[in-house]
Amino acid sequence: MALLTDKTAVVTGGASGLGRAVAELFADHGAAVVVADLRSEPREGGAPIHERIADQGGDAAFVECDVTRYEDCVDAVAAAEEFGGIDVMVNNAGIVGPQTPLVDLDFDEYQTLMEVNLRGVFHGSKAAAIAMLEQGNGGSIINMSSVAGMQGYGGITPYSAAKGGVRLFSYALASELGPDDIRVNAVHPGVIETAMTTEDSPTVGTEEGEKLKQTIPLRRFGQPEDVAGVCGFLASDLASYVTAESIVVDGGNLNSA
Ligand code: NAD
Repeated sequence: MALLTDKTAVVTGGASGLGRAVAELFADHGAAVVVADLRSEPREGGAPIHERIADQGGDAAFVECDVTRYEDCVDAVAAAEEFGGIDVMVNNAGIVGPQTPLVDLDFDEYQTLMEVNLRGVFHGSKAAAIAMLEQGNGGSIINMSSVAGMQGYGGITPYSAAKGGVRLFSYALASELGPDDIRVNAVHPGVIETAMTTEDSPTVGTEEGEKLKQTIPLRRFGQPEDVAGVCGFLASDLASYVTAESIVVDGGNLNSA
């Protein structure tokens, strides 16, 4: 069953990792997809996802977008007009930033992290909300948080702060936009195998990572498709009464000893 027929989605950070899997799954379910990213080449290699979707007969476009710039997010949302206007916004772009104790952290490093991970969600949500309100057809905004937005992780205090901010930002915006049938939810992945966890903050493939894996009830790290499936549900009409909600996608680690 195609869940997203006649819908158009914008996915920030959609060129790589989780965003790429979201773009692919959305297209597989019939959506038109605007991939908004700093660059179109996937960090993990391979062809740009918008090209792959188009090659398979789907509707897709790429917009060069830095989510720290509001005008870029407005441009990404405007690109959805070619496909009938935005129905779904996935604010997924993010960086892990420095893995440094707070006492060794410079404010500039904190600021850079916040600019991308929290301000970027503000920009994407605002641009999408304005367009959705103008269209008057409702919509779904999905904000990529993390398990680090559910509990504090030492060594990545700015990341935890930003991702916790994304969670409550989503709940607050859900309250504002609910009367216009625009739903806003947060997704909280655990360790998912992307360049972020193999290169930027190496967990996958490390000794420490192997130990961590044995504490996860499902005994594996997540794949981008595991997160994309949850985003597909939240984007679809199956989730028509779900808003101001958090969905954790971590193999059971957060809630289970
Ligand atoms: P990734 O590094 O594989 O992909 C991130 C994408 O975002 C890249 O294509 C990159 O170019 C893009 N991007 C970075 N800064 C940007 C900016 N300023 N403007 C536009 N695009 C930008 O990372 P990922 O693992 O796919 O992470 C995606 C999201 O999921 C992030 O918000 C991350 O914090 C979150 N997350 C990831 C994990 C994980 O284990 N991988 C866990 C929890 C949360």
